Amino acid sequence: TNDKLAEWDRESFFHPSTHLAQFARGEAAQRIVTGGEGVFIQDRDGNKLLDGFAGLYCVNVGYGRQEIAEAIADQARELSYYHAYAGHGSEASITLAKMVMDRAPKNMARVYFGLGGSDANETNIKLVWYYNNILGRPEKKKIISRWRGYHGSGLMTGSLTGLELFHKKFDLPLAQVIHTEAPYYYRRPDMNMSEEEFTAYCVQSLEELIAREGADTIAAFIGEPVLGTGGIVPPPAGYWQAIQKVLDKHDILLIVDEVVTGFGRLGTMFGADHYGVKPDLITSAKGLTSAYAPLSASIVGQRMWDVLMKGTDENGVIGHGWTYSAHPIGAAAGVANLKLIDELGLVQNAADTGNYFWQTMRDEVGGHGNVGEVRGEGMLCAVELAADKDKRQFFDASEGTGAKVVAAMLKRGVIARAMPQGDIIGYAPPLCLTRAEADQIVLATKDAITEVLG
Ligand code: PLP
Repeated sequence: TNDKLAEWDRESFFHPSTHLAQFARGEAAQRIVTGGEGVFIQDRDGNKLLDGFAGLYCVNVGYGRQEIAEAIADQARELSYYHAYAGHGSEASITLAKMVMDRAPKNMARVYFGLGGSDANETNIKLVWYYNNILGRPEKKKIISRWRGYHGSGLMTGSLTGLELFHKKFDLPLAQVIHTEAPYYYRRPDMNMSEEEFTAYCVQSLEELIAREGADTIAAFIGEPVLGTGGIVPPPAGYWQAIQKVLDKHDILLIVDEVVTGFGRLGTMFGADHYGVKPDLITSAKGLTSAYAPLSASIVGQRMWDVLMKGTDENGVIGHGWTYSAHPIGAAAGVANLKLIDELGLVQNAADTGNYFWQTMRDEVGGHGNVGEVRGEGMLCAVELAADKDKRQFFDASEGTGAKVVAAMLKRGVIARAMPQGDIIGYAPPLCLTRAEADQIVLATKDAITEVLG
């Protein structure tokens, strides 16, 4: 019964990313989700909700895809598990490796499979350090990340994440991690800056950081093509090309964190293609399996792979791997998922319906006196609220204005996400969203903003 589940939940379950006071108050899970179909989920109380955030930006093909469920069941019946160490593999993991490499940017060489975005970033940082050790420059170890970047919540990945919440009381960031400017044009330091001037400002901040720390101490730069959890912020014009130039000049590797953008969300297979950059490493997870099973991919670029190969005789077995690396069930889900993305034309739909969605949002709510900015790229959109939009003054965080709007949307049957910093309402629907469903999200947003802010 629901009462029994509430009791067990209160007594037993330590939920992730939850205010600890909720446990202290003995609150039970607010929603028990039981099923889903397309862009909708349903709960135990019979509510049907349009999921405008695809879980946590991950259910890219939508819910209830029987093709993926069958592939998982077939794999579990045939071979539920065998490890991938030292030359072992399953049909599913080898097939998926080939499919990922066929879709990855041209300069990529190999793929390593883990379980989630955090561990894939952990792998990538270890590979960067391994690479520099092979090259005999052990002092070149620091990693530059951006404020507002999100890269996970482990010890290294939580350090890379540029949100205070993920550092506070955990003794993070680790000493090897340094942060630079977020490419957040709406919150630029000077209102008179053009996008190009703001890009130049970000580049100059990066150059200054590199000069201060010393290029010979810096191994890599990590960034999401579009800042995700930090506020869903597409970069200003020319940003990625300009950053790549700086990194190349100082022999600093580029890690592109595509956990959100990988496999179609921006309307291209990868965000690196969308912005025309050449990564040394790509991090991906979420859209790789559309979250039907946990799986991540660290994709290694040719220039790193060549060096790693050179170092093998001397170093022997690489001391990195998990029991569940390349898990056959995750891999089977990935194969079925990537096939479905192709068959349904979801990358193109992310471009077409995604752009329709956020542009309609801009037309419908952008004129409201408390909507500072509506921005988007592909199937990502954000509505940033402001107390005074002309002066770019924001609401006091303690008022929880964004969260109130999201709660008012929920009453209208639509899920959006109150982003963790600032009053920003975030949207990352499944890539199979239709125009009618996009209209439904826009209407719920408009009505909710009116209800909360007048
Ligand atoms: N990188 C990015 C860009 C993410 O958005 C996330 C999660 O949202 C992660 C890494 C961490 O992934 P996971 O939660 O699967 O560990």
